[in-house]
Order: sequence, then C-alpha cells, then structure tokens
Amino acid sequence: TQLLDNKVCIITGGAGPRGIGKATARLFHQHGATVVIADLDEEKSREAAAEIAAERTMGVACDVTDKASCETAVKAVMERYGRVDVLINNAGITQPLKTLEISPENYEQVTDVSLRGMLYMSQSVLPHMAEQRGGAIVNTSSVSAQRGGGIFGGPHYSAAKAGMLGLAKAMAREYGQYNIRINSVTPGLIQTDITGGKLTDEMKTQILTGIPLNRLGDAQDVAKGFLFLASDLSSYTTGAVLDINGGMHM
Ligand code: NAD
Repeated sequence: TQLLDNKVCIITGGAGPRGIGKATARLFHQHGATVVIADLDEEKSREAAAEIAAERTMGVACDVTDKASCETAVKAVMERYGRVDVLINNAGITQPLKTLEISPENYEQVTDVSLRGMLYMSQSVLPHMAEQRGGAIVNTSSVSAQRGGGIFGGPHYSAAKAGMLGLAKAMAREYGQYNIRINSVTPGLIQTDITGGKLTDEMKTQILTGIPLNRLGDAQDVAKGFLFLASDLSSYTTGAVLDINGGMHM
C-alpha cells in the first residue's frame, strides 16, 4: 500500500540513529513519501536521509527553537519539491530533574524545543499547506503530559508536552477550514536512545507491571501512529490525541 504517494513529509529530530523520527521517515518512505529529515546537524541529517534511500529523501539542518532556521529549512524543501504535505514535530529533549532542580536554563531548553519548535515549524509550513488546501501536522507529546511525569522527563518536560496538546487543538480549530488536520500522539515508554541504555532489568520488570501489553514500545509502534495521522486513513480526525503506550495510561 502507498498511503503517502507523492506526499512531501518533513520530520524534525529525525537523525537519531535509533529514534522515533528515523523509524517514521523509513516507514513513510516505504509508503511512497518523499521524506525530509530536519535535525540540528546538517551532516547527520543528510546521512540519516541517505541511509533510508538515495531517492525521495533530503536532509536539512534545522534548529527548531530558532524561527529563522525553521523558515530556511522549509524554504529549502519548497525550492526542491514545490510543496509540503506533512509535518511531524518530533524533535524533543528530556532532562531527568526534580522540581527544585529545574534551573531557568533547564526550563527554557526543554520548553523551547517542544513548544517554540512546534510553533515555529508549524508557522513555516501552514501558509504553504493552506495554499495547497490540504496538509497534516502531527505532534509528539508524551504520556508524561497526561499522567504527570515519566521515567526520564522532569516536570518541565511534562509541562512542555502538555502545552503541545493545547497548541495542537487551537491550531486544529483555526486550520480545519483549509483541510489541514493537526493531531498529536502521546507515546509511553519507547525504547530509543533517550531511554534505551538507561533501564536496568530490575527497573524494566517493575515498569512492565504497569503496562497491560507487557512490553516496552518501540519506534515502529509510534511510527505506525504517525502514519495513520499523516495519511488519508485519518481523514476525519483533527485535534485528536492518540495514545501509544501499551495501556500504561488510559
Ligand atoms: P531521539 O533523541 O532519538 O530524538 C530526538 C531528536 O531531536 C534528536 O535527533 C535530536 O538531535 C533532535 N533535536 C533536539 N533538539 C533539537 C532542535 N532544537 N532542533 C531540531 N532537532 C532537535 O529520541 P526519541 O525517543 O526518538 O524522541 C523523539 C520524540 O519522542 C521526542 O519529542 C520525545 O520527547 C518523544 N517521546 C519519546 C518517548 C520515549 O520513551 N522515547 C516517549 C514519549 C515521547
């Protein structure tokens, strides 16, 4: 099946070798999409894109906390492909801090990537999607937003990820008239570089008692949710939140 035939899809934070973004880019490419990996480092973004395929891939440097950088990245995509159909706001950082440990700098770092990043990237693509009369934006929130804290993210991470849900819903209301759908996913504990190496067997056993599906998630589990929300499979869904957490939170 080619659910994303001829669609140009930008995935932020897609250069992490075992990350959710990379798995998403790979799955989208298999479904016919042209994928653009937009991550901090230009070389790494290009390498990640080239690793997926030589054709229908592009890597661009993009710091999502910097509005000019977002605009430059989207401009490069428009110059090369002439359209943008899907934006996956996937860039994110975590800091395992407790409330009193969060410095002003920590707060800014974490909220900037999630909230400014989502806003600036959305602002950069929305005029093009509106002109095309169609598009989809999917945002990576977290179960941390819903249950108050995760294993690795601090309270400021929960705040940033919860803020993304509000921003997504407000933009979904505003842009529905242009046939632009804006949805979010809330992944649970997914094994990637953020979480992977840091879990001891003991921690894992304890965590699994709270997960009805009795396993941690993997990047593909989240990529499949993105595919649903980015493609026509979700044609009548906007402003929604899709839990991908094995039942950890219901
Ligand atoms: P990852 O570290 O592999 O991916 C995050 C990517 O974001 C990295 O490639 C990093 O370079 C990039 N990035 C960081 N700051 C950036 C910036 N300013 N501009 C552009 N790119 C930037 O980790 P992952 O687990 O694949 O995380 C992907 C997303 O999923 C994140 O938003 C994360 O918060 C979210 N998430 C992860 C889990 C989990 O358990 N792994 C759970 C819920 C949500």
